[in-house]
Amino acid sequence: MSSLNTRRWLSYAVLACAISLTLGVTPQEQTAPSRHIVLISLDGLPSWALDDPFLPMPTLRALAARGAIAAGMRPVNPTVTWPNHTTLITGVTPAKHGVLFNGVLKRDPGVPPRVEPWLPRDEMVRVKTLYDVVHERGMTTAQVDWVAIMAAPTVTWEFPERPAPDGVVAQEMVKAGILTQTELETFATRNIVWRDHIWTQAAAHIIREHRPNLTMYHLLNLDSTQHRYGPRTPAAMTTMAHLDAQVAEIVAAVERAGLTSRTTFFIVSDHGFKLVKRQIRLNAAFMKEGLLKATDGKIVQSDAYVVPEGGSAIVYLTSPDPSGELLARARKAIAGVEGIDAVIETATTESTACRSRARTIRWAFFSSRRRTGTRLRLRWARTS
Ligand SMILES: [Zn+2]
Repeated sequence: MSSLNTRRWLSYAVLACAISLTLGVTPQEQTAPSRHIVLISLDGLPSWALDDPFLPMPTLRALAARGAIAAGMRPVNPTVTWPNHTTLITGVTPAKHGVLFNGVLKRDPGVPPRVEPWLPRDEMVRVKTLYDVVHERGMTTAQVDWVAIMAAPTVTWEFPERPAPDGVVAQEMVKAGILTQTELETFATRNIVWRDHIWTQAAAHIIREHRPNLTMYHLLNLDSTQHRYGPRTPAAMTTMAHLDAQVAEIVAAVERAGLTSRTTFFIVSDHGFKLVKRQIRLNAAFMKEGLLKATDGKIVQSDAYVVPEGGSAIVYLTSPDPSGELLARARKAIAGVEGIDAVIETATTESTACRSRARTIRWAFFSSRRRTGTRLRLRWARTS
């Protein structure tokens, strides 16, 4: 792969397959020197970033120059973080893996649905993941801030998005002076810049001390910064440059562990960002139609509710609707609303996944853009 420098489109399935081939898993090879994958996800890194020569990212450029590069990747729909990451690690779309949100949608009659992220992986992901396969073949796995992975039995070492105060790796890091017990106990309340820093320290620590065959490491600051300040802003560009420095720390950790010649880095992103100047608030249309009722700014009764998801939105009827009257009113409420590209109610791949989770509550699927035009860049490189 090191001499390959062609640009091409790849699917997520190809990525999952490529990682599997790189690790190699035949029994004869079990006595051979270990091989390692470091999968780095830079959340929200756009496909144009490395084309801009005035964006300082020397580590990523050096890895790309020695490795292979794809011009972009096609995100899945819904184009948000957890569905895309789960596609990356399973090779299948949300219609098969079942992760449609940054968590699982919880629904109760008469109230708006809510997204619950803190559920075990087995309640969220319906198919086998790459780390499951690696573990099955007797190799070791690690995750740092990866998503839809809570309590996964096939992860050997972890420092999660919300680390447990008594976690094995967390306690090793406290003993090593990387963070204090108090910082660990209040981790989730700290700013994203510091949490990215500690996740980087955690990944470096795990690589140095435990040498996993597969390390999955995910950084969130760029996503948060672009949500807050927008794409192509000085804040976003500064964060990208800082991400490059954090990738350099991981490359250095691999070097210190003496694993450089046996390690392949895959550097990926899950989606880009687009600036929007106007938002469609379909729940306001439902309120006008009487499908939502609020008191003092708080929703007290819900018969239909819109959950926006990365350029598309999913509409749930949240009360029983045996006669179809609520669905008809929901259709009427959004008819003619400016900016909706398509209303999808037939059995598309996405809607099939939605329906299978809908149980008794009827749904409709609305999309402002059937598929986002944002291209993602996939890069991977061998260090020698
Ligand atoms: Zn994301």
